[in-house]
Amino acid sequence: KKLAVPGVRQLNPYIPGKPISELERELGIENIIKLASNENPLGPSPKAMKAIEKEMDELALYPDGNGFELKKVLAEKHQVGMDQITLGNGSNDVLVLLAEAYLSPDVSAMYSQYSFAVYPIAIQAVGAIHQMIPATTWEDERPLGCDLPAMKAAINEKTRMIFIANPNNPTGSFLHKEELYAFIKSVAEDVIIVLDEAYLEYASPEERVDGSLWLDEFPNLVITRTFSKAYGLAGFRVGYCLSNPEIANVLNRIRQPFNVNSLALAAATAAIGDEAFLARSMQVNASGMQMLADCCEQLGLRYVPSKGNFLLVDFGQDAMPVYQNMLELGIITRPVANYGLTNCLRITIGTETEMQRMVSVMEQVCG
Ligand code: PMP
Repeated sequence: KKLAVPGVRQLNPYIPGKPISELERELGIENIIKLASNENPLGPSPKAMKAIEKEMDELALYPDGNGFELKKVLAEKHQVGMDQITLGNGSNDVLVLLAEAYLSPDVSAMYSQYSFAVYPIAIQAVGAIHQMIPATTWEDERPLGCDLPAMKAAINEKTRMIFIANPNNPTGSFLHKEELYAFIKSVAEDVIIVLDEAYLEYASPEERVDGSLWLDEFPNLVITRTFSKAYGLAGFRVGYCLSNPEIANVLNRIRQPFNVNSLALAAATAAIGDEAFLARSMQVNASGMQMLADCCEQLGLRYVPSKGNFLLVDFGQDAMPVYQNMLELGIITRPVANYGLTNCLRITIGTETEMQRMVSVMEQVCG
């Protein structure tokens, strides 16, 4: 530990949850539902599943290191050049590549409090200075969100990168097009803005800020996307970023030559064309979200209005006993004490049946 760079020495290890089978054995119950990791409850896109069947015969071969087919469909979808795309082993990989390529111990990168936990890890892992900007308060019109004016005010000569998740995880809060655009415009071009759109599909088309439309205007803008959420392919680990060709060129120089495996490439390429699956996923999410929000209203629990596939609920007391009680009734949620949100749990939206069970468990535990 002593030999690690200073930033790494300060990091706390990520402690993953136990596998469901192990929890079922420990608790002596069956059919535990996991609503903890913002996965798609419908499973993977059927088109993706079909595509990997074909690919199985080719497993002795290395994957296409350039991800040609996937980049081709992505370029079409986003109306960008293939040279503006960097593929990653999940968008997590791309976030790490960005930090590795552009940060060093003498510069800093910022992110909002209550924002994706990987940002400080990626920043500190390369020894750079991490700057956490306090989020908006519960009283704000949009609670626990990214405070753009505070971010703007905190930029100094050391700032090289700003991470913004929109919608944000773990809060689900959302920034509007106009304010986001004005913010990006106000930031100097030597600061890279990483707009993490892992949950963008869940925001309604009218509200959605498709940052890729701004790439021509802002050479310092990077958009990250993932197949882990709306496309239901979290286990495959595929994500990507869109940027100007220069940034993509730099990232492609440092990534592992085969950082996305062949099954993942085939699955993601097919999933993009599965509009019906995407539409069904959005519909299931919208109605499940409504059920959970209604339940919170009835129980008098406050929550952050969410544009993602999860809801951050404030239980008004230490959330760990609530978490434990729900677990014993067969539902895994996500404690967020590591963000300092000790009274809250983040609950992923499941299928209608799963949400019916969730609501009845919440009524039992909190009613
Ligand atoms: N960004 C955000 C905001 C996330 O919540 C997540 C996953 N929890 C990721 C990026 C990374 O997802 P993946 O690596 O699966 O693409």
